[in-house]
Amino acid sequence: MNILDGRQLAKKIRAELSEEVNKIVAAGGRAPHLAAVLVGEDPASQVYVRNKVRSCEKIGFRSTLIRRPADVGESELLDVVRQLNEDEAVDGFIVQLPLPRHINEERVTLAIRPEKDVDGFHPVNFGRMAQGLPCYLPATPAGILEMMRRHEIQTEGREVVVIGRSNIVGTPIGILLSRKAYPGNATVTICHSRTRGLEDHLRRADIIVAAIGIPEFVKGSMVKEGVVVIDVGINRVEAPGTEKGYRLCGDVDFDSVSPKASLITPVPGGVGQLTVVSLLMNTLKAARREIYV
Ligand code: NAD
Repeated sequence: MNILDGRQLAKKIRAELSEEVNKIVAAGGRAPHLAAVLVGEDPASQVYVRNKVRSCEKIGFRSTLIRRPADVGESELLDVVRQLNEDEAVDGFIVQLPLPRHINEERVTLAIRPEKDVDGFHPVNFGRMAQGLPCYLPATPAGILEMMRRHEIQTEGREVVVIGRSNIVGTPIGILLSRKAYPGNATVTICHSRTRGLEDHLRRADIIVAAIGIPEFVKGSMVKEGVVVIDVGINRVEAPGTEKGYRLCGDVDFDSVSPKASLITPVPGGVGQLTVVSLLMNTLKAARREIYV
């Protein structure tokens, strides 16, 4: 069994990005600039946004954090989006989800100009992705592809089973791995909460991408020998007696699955590490006007 070390890979890519920024600045250009909008005080969202902002600073990107209280009106938030759309000093921006219930997330996502949608959540980017056109890929699927590319994981003709069909992970990674490209050219089955015989699908899989949000759902008895396992899940489970009182785990039961897997991503230290890096890669593309000229 080999462990796909997301931490090491993310470090390497950050160093490459940092070098790119240095070159841009040395040539008289300005550093790529990412803005993040955070609404309310949700602790998980605060941690995610802080990570994104810090990661920018570490590699020499400019970053701006715009905060609004949880009771901000939808029209005020849409104004913030409009200003960022127009601000030529901002290359790309994200609005951290989830938003408070009184705000329509779809309306906010649609208001972001696709050219600045470095999260890749706008339907224009999603549609371009589905058609194989240049676009900003959503960060987590992009991170998985990068991991596969850098570790030369063969996907052509392989049976891939994706568990989960969310718009940010399951559905896009399913589309991407079935595209005529590398990584891709795989035969993809997307399983979800209404799938019958999930274990039969899993036992056939050469590659499993688990994005369900249920701690340690995939067990060793459900997978075949030599399987490649990409565990996207990030779950908190109680761990009495530890300092924090909880531990993080994936959607895959690492202890029973890893002895059968040829490659497996750990949690923490796996796919999650690549997610922020993918956002930075999109921001660099935005600064270079690589996708939308
Ligand atoms: P989601 O809650 O939007 O979707 C979960 C999916 O799992 C649904 O499509 C549902 O049909 C499926 N599902 C639920 N129960 C099932 C069952 N019993 N059998 C089969 N399928 C089932 O999830 P999401 O936003 O895609 O996130 C999934 C997991 O990935 C979560 O743990 C989340 O924290 C994690 N995540 C990690 C990253 C990262 O950077 N590594 C990014 C996004 C999400």
